[in-house]
Amino acid sequence: MENYQKIINSIYSNLKNVTDTGKVADYIPELGNISPDNFGVNITTIDKKSFGVGDFNKKFSIQSISKILTLTLAYQLEGETLWKRVDVEPSGNPFNSLLQLEADLGIPRNPFINAGAIVVCDVLISHLQNPKDEFLAFCREISNNNELKYNEKVAQSEKKTGYRNIAMCNFIKSFGNIKNDIEDVLDFYFYTCSLEMTCQELSQIFLFLANDDFITQRGKRVLTMSQAKRINAILLTCGFYDESGEFAFRVGLPGKSGVGGGIVAIHPDEFCITVWSPKLNKKGNSYKGMLFLEQFTTATASSIF
Ligand code: GLU
Repeated sequence: MENYQKIINSIYSNLKNVTDTGKVADYIPELGNISPDNFGVNITTIDKKSFGVGDFNKKFSIQSISKILTLTLAYQLEGETLWKRVDVEPSGNPFNSLLQLEADLGIPRNPFINAGAIVVCDVLISHLQNPKDEFLAFCREISNNNELKYNEKVAQSEKKTGYRNIAMCNFIKSFGNIKNDIEDVLDFYFYTCSLEMTCQELSQIFLFLANDDFITQRGKRVLTMSQAKRINAILLTCGFYDESGEFAFRVGLPGKSGVGGGIVAIHPDEFCITVWSPKLNKKGNSYKGMLFLEQFTTATASSIF
């Protein structure tokens, strides 16, 4: 096995003092209060060995990375009919764009842009009695980690300022692709985005996408092999907003970013890696996170290509 600790330490110290041209997301006011200097990395292998450097044990707002978790639970509950409500094509547009919804009659391009995740939240509300509690219980079960929590302040902060998401949810409802009450769907969506995790917790929770034989502590599979393969495929093509091609080009792994500055990337059959650095590039992806992962897959020859 590669000496992951040595490799991540060395890339970390190369990048620590590199000038970061990114900006912390402050359109959600509470996220603007995070220190831009946080920088953490953690890798967990499928045999559960974990290697971390920097701020890998500090909690942060995972934001859109939660879209993988909502999709996973919805896919588990709804099966293939889910794809009638949300497509699997890259959008080539910003994460919060309303543009394509008009032409696509309210069917979001994929589950990893806001429009798609809002529809996925609607699907979950139709299946669950108590969506916030049951979704949190699902996340705790697949990661075997009862420490996971929503951040109330972040959820409320986004609720107060989530104008585009509110517009989007109403717009999709006008096409009939939101079945539940708008207020309930948005409240659930904002809470899922406010989930907090450390880099280490994040690299552990996604092992089910890296390991075909993954079962939870209670002996259950999370997804079938085919479903996990499909989620990885959508992550590769759609996980980085309108920079998904660039991420595949530079890093070459399925992955997902969030505006809290986290990125998680998955190497099927080997590991999950998470990088957190809050300053974002113009496309909304962590500036240093992209750099780190590019150097990491180069140093370890671990792009999937
Ligand atoms: N909660 C954020 C929003 O809806 C998530 C965006 C992201 O991380 O891409 O704007």
